[in-house]
Amino acid sequence: METQPKASHFINGTYVEDTNGTPIPVIYPATGEVIATVYAATPEVLDQAVSAAQAAQEAWGAMTGTERGRILRRAADLMRERNHELSVLETYDTGKPLQETLVADATSGADALEYFGGLAATLTGEHIPLGEDWVYTVREPLGVCVGIGAWNYPTQIACWKGAPALACGNAMIFKPSETTPLCALKVAEILVEAGLPAGLYNVVQGMGEVGGALVTDPRVDKVSLTGSVPTGKKVYAAAASGMKHVTMELGGKSPLVIFDDADLDNAVGGAINGNFYSSGQVCSNGTRVFVQKGIKEAFLKRLAERLENAVLGDPLNEDTNFGPMVSERQMEIVKSYIAKGNEEGARLVAGGGQLDKDGFWLEPTVFADVTDDMTIAREEIFGPVMAVLDFEDEAEVIARANDTEYGLSAGVFTNDISRAHRVIGKLQAGSCFINSYNDAPVEAPFGGVKASGVGRENSKEAIQHYSQVKSVYVRMGDVEAAF
Ligand code: NDP
Repeated sequence: METQPKASHFINGTYVEDTNGTPIPVIYPATGEVIATVYAATPEVLDQAVSAAQAAQEAWGAMTGTERGRILRRAADLMRERNHELSVLETYDTGKPLQETLVADATSGADALEYFGGLAATLTGEHIPLGEDWVYTVREPLGVCVGIGAWNYPTQIACWKGAPALACGNAMIFKPSETTPLCALKVAEILVEAGLPAGLYNVVQGMGEVGGALVTDPRVDKVSLTGSVPTGKKVYAAAASGMKHVTMELGGKSPLVIFDDADLDNAVGGAINGNFYSSGQVCSNGTRVFVQKGIKEAFLKRLAERLENAVLGDPLNEDTNFGPMVSERQMEIVKSYIAKGNEEGARLVAGGGQLDKDGFWLEPTVFADVTDDMTIAREEIFGPVMAVLDFEDEAEVIARANDTEYGLSAGVFTNDISRAHRVIGKLQAGSCFINSYNDAPVEAPFGGVKASGVGRENSKEAIQHYSQVKSVYVRMGDVEAAF
């Protein structure tokens, strides 16, 4: 693979190797072949990364936002110029089809770099008049931020965390998922090529322990995790003991509610996007598809017709629109949920099987007649398994949709404009959709409520989570004191 990064880690502006760390094989999910090996960071490598970040941050934070932003925008341009090469690497890392990675990964990363590059110069404080006196506020960086990524969007996550952190004047150390270690290294390379001073964006490899060591390092000021709820609870608790700032982008079991007046093809399209894009490995997926009884059979029929157009094949062939699971482990997890769906009495209406070929291939799978208590309706599967549930009326579906510990996303399909807003207003979720599903533009806040997370990524909201406010009281007259 010609695009392969040169070593395991990227620290202080350059590639760093230390083969004393545990070897991590990088497996191409479409074939199961080992395409590279990286080594988990040793304590020495971690110390180098944190020291470099800490040393570089002060001067970066002291630069003007315009200067910082210019570098980020240059990096965005480089990412767009190299989109094809970066997309091929993303496909090798994750198995996602090139048809997707060409439009959803480096491009989304570039959007984040461009957006936060543009915002960097606008980060100002307030002037608060108090008669003769006044208070002014200053938005300051947090210091050293740690980003910990999941495996489903390795380029995007590296940029969604790096771009706002750097725009606000912080340094970042990013730890990719051990399953997809390659793409973040390219992001680091491009940032340095764009002019980012050494030490401000570092990448270290490793399993959970490496992430854990970073979270508890006293020199680290903030942790942003994209991952599962159980990992989020551990990382949040560890960060709390050091009183660190956090952003938690965690999992979901989001409802997608389709009323019987909805445009059927759009609703089916939304359900496909919300369940089968990236082979279902998307945190915001609408995996509980509530379909009003009147259109249930029409919905299932049209869905079955459109599933015929799924093309499972070589992910590097741009005609392929459905790829493998990211790993054998993830494939086995998803298979166990499919088995549970069958055991617990859901009606399998499409897919359900593993392909008889190398790699980690499952068919897009649909269960109908799913009830709220079934495991496949309660637990996050993180694979291509859609659960279709029936409902009668609005109040009932709102109550059932909210009956979950999660609250990442929610969607409504209806042609009744009042109902669309009324229902969305009552659904407990952070990122919602009306007559659409799973759009994630950088301009919109992204993140969950309830167990799905804390804080928001993207948009102006992210600035609150990568900076802190200093307030300065200025007295113009004499100081009055009791004695
Ligand atoms: P995990 O929660 O298993 O891991 C997430 C990251 O945390 C990985 O880099 C992992 O390292 C690391 N990690 C694990 N344990 C610790 C620890 N104790 N301390 C510090 N870091 C740790 O998630 P997956 O990678 O399996 O990703 C899938 C999950 O991510 C899904 O549940 C999904 O819902 C969620 N997700 C959420 C998104 C969101 O924005 N809300 C987006 C995408 C995914 P390693 O894997 O190398 O062990």
